[in-house]
Amino acid sequence: MVENLGRVDRVLFVSPHPDDIEFSCGGTVARLVQSGSKVSYIVATNGNKGSRDTDMSRDYLESEREKEQRAAANTLGVSEVTFLDFGDGELEDDHDFRRTLVYNIRRFKPDVVFCPDPFRTTFYIHRDHRITGLVTIDAAFPYARDRLHYPEHLAQGLAVHNTEEVFFYGTETPDTFVDITETVELKSSSILMHTSQVKDMISGANGQSGFLEQLKKRSLRIATENRQDFKYAEAFRSYGLRKMFG
Ligand SMILES: [Zn+2]
Repeated sequence: MVENLGRVDRVLFVSPHPDDIEFSCGGTVARLVQSGSKVSYIVATNGNKGSRDTDMSRDYLESEREKEQRAAANTLGVSEVTFLDFGDGELEDDHDFRRTLVYNIRRFKPDVVFCPDPFRTTFYIHRDHRITGLVTIDAAFPYARDRLHYPEHLAQGLAVHNTEEVFFYGTETPDTFVDITETVELKSSSILMHTSQVKDMISGANGQSGFLEQLKKRSLRIATENRQDFKYAEAFRSYGLRKMFG
């Protein structure tokens, strides 16, 4: 995919919570945008429980996190962010979530979809991430492709859609590495837009510069541990729908 970045027309990133995309894929998003891809986000939950701050109400957190997510996406050049507004920690592998994802896939028509790796086995994966990954791959294939699934979408003027490939982020078994050396600073800026999530980290002993240094070290480690010949990387696992099913 690295070589083909410039040739991917439409890319959809599906996120369980506001901020997951920037932390895992921000450098890749920026590269895709810079090379002419149209990038769209779907954010499944409103992230209204993502705070340990006892003064923070759910409604306040919900509206703040939506604003932060839009600002972060703007920083990377993403024009379209769709919030599905499910409750934080309340996602289910059910028709409601699947139908909404199928609708958005048929509407946006992505060539490539990014979502969390739902099959991680050796370290804990948040339930919302696991369910988002599972429901996204089912929605992309075969539900969005087959006209008898959710036929009401076709009645609304949408067509069936065949996504070519899915990439998992947050994976323990990456096989695809994107060079983010040129966009690592932009990634950092986009992460800083998630003020409610990073404020504790940037107010620590090492401050904002220490926090950003840690972030860059992670990208550096991904590149060096996987013997890439560039400095900073993001890692993904390819899950080829066509390769599997022809
Ligand atoms: Zn998350």
